[in-house]
Amino acid sequence: DGITLERVREHVWEIPQEGDMRAPARVLASEALLEEIKEDKSLEQIKNTTHLPGITNYAICMPDAHQGYGFPVGGVGALDAENGCISPGAVGYDINCGVRMMRTNLTYDEVQGQEEELVDSLFANIPSGLGGGGIVEAGVDAIDEILARGVDWALENGHAVEDDLLHCEDEGMREGADPEKVSQKAKDRGKNQIGSLGSGNHFLEVQRVTDVFDSAVGEAYGLEENQIVVLIHCGSRGLGHQTCNDYLRKIEQQHKGLLDQLPDKELAAAPAGSQLAEDYYGAMNAAINFAWVNRQLIMHRTRQVFERVFDRSWGEMEMELLYDVAHNIAKKETHVVNDDGDERELYVHRKGATRAFPAGHPEVPTAYRDVGQPVIIPGSMGAGSYVLRGGENSMNLTFGSTAHGAGRLMSRTQAKNEFWGGDVQQDLEDQQAIYVKAQSGATIAEEAPGVYKDVDEVVRVSDELGIGDKVARTFPVCNIKG
Ligand code: 5GP
Ligand code: MN
Ligand code: MN
Repeated sequence: DGITLERVREHVWEIPQEGDMRAPARVLASEALLEEIKEDKSLEQIKNTTHLPGITNYAICMPDAHQGYGFPVGGVGALDAENGCISPGAVGYDINCGVRMMRTNLTYDEVQGQEEELVDSLFANIPSGLGGGGIVEAGVDAIDEILARGVDWALENGHAVEDDLLHCEDEGMREGADPEKVSQKAKDRGKNQIGSLGSGNHFLEVQRVTDVFDSAVGEAYGLEENQIVVLIHCGSRGLGHQTCNDYLRKIEQQHKGLLDQLPDKELAAAPAGSQLAEDYYGAMNAAINFAWVNRQLIMHRTRQVFERVFDRSWGEMEMELLYDVAHNIAKKETHVVNDDGDERELYVHRKGATRAFPAGHPEVPTAYRDVGQPVIIPGSMGAGSYVLRGGENSMNLTFGSTAHGAGRLMSRTQAKNEFWGGDVQQDLEDQQAIYVKAQSGATIAEEAPGVYKDVDEVVRVSDELGIGDKVARTFPVCNIKG
């Protein structure tokens, strides 16, 4: 409604700069996906984002974009780290929500017939749901260690092996994490949730690889058809949520001048260089480490579950971390910002967006440097998921980013009116041999395959734009949810 959208070229649309916008906005989508994006407030939100000081080149909607708190889920905003600002709403409440994929050397044939035992055993051993209880409970000292050191803490405490660290962004430890900037309330919420999925959209899914589109990159990632892999999606639980909340309130109060200039209060931002910008960045980095430890503990526990179900050691099953990607973060990164090759330090906000650095980028782990970083894009519990690799055009088009999922088509409330959990579960089993176990039927309804967009279409756009290239596709075998 009233938003001008111009076609730049295939899959690239632009909201031209006008009024108080400080840059244009771009939407990367096919015509079909664009129609879905137009259904909610995503376009208005991405346009609003261009009012933030220091917005560089353009604010960008990924093909999976849908509306979120202030800033769309599936959005990228690069804000100047010297003269711009940082915005908690453009990171998201679930700081470092993300996915990691673990390989195995099991084949689908070896698992068939044991799906139910496997799903029951995973459900019994991996904490999930709204309530408290994680794999470990941390005292005061341990929580600060976790926040400061991330997966390094897990290694020291027997929940990780060295190799896990090498296959995680930042080797599982974000520099600049400042546990003192995380409130006691946030720590209290997180301390008994370490190693827990949480509820709703978070899941652990055993999958089989159905297609390898690029055999050379597939080989570099250790993926082949019929292989069993495990996908884990969760974030920083109550600790991250509380941290986002704490800083939104502080920023709203202390940076009212900036807030008043913005079209939406939910975009509240702290100017670069201000105390609150530094504090939020330190706290957010700490919550990032917390989420990495969370996913690590869940993965390590999954190894133990597989050991019992398949009566083999996890080493024998080669259960190695392929990669872990964050999809709710802001990170200081240096990017080339114009055709003259000028570089600038930016707070790259990726909310429901995945880093997708191409081959040769120094921040891609050594194991994948020659092919580009793995990008993991979940679809739904009844559809495929994808492994991509960072594409050649990502640095130019998206500050090194691509989509993070299929993206929601409808709200949770709508979903509960539309679907009945028990029926969805039964259909998945009868029609697709997918075994789902959840804490509540409502969760299954809210996350039914029909509430998500077409992941194949999202990935097609990413691949055709060259921001994230298709490597492999997977399909669910069994799935546990909160
Ligand atoms: P978000 O982080 O925005 O909640 O979700 C990320 C993406 O995960 C969603 O856009 C959706 O495509 C995908 N997804 C949600 N539930 C499931 C599931 O049970 N299995 C798989 N494979 N993907 C899911
Ligand atoms: Mn999340
Ligand atoms: Mn997520």
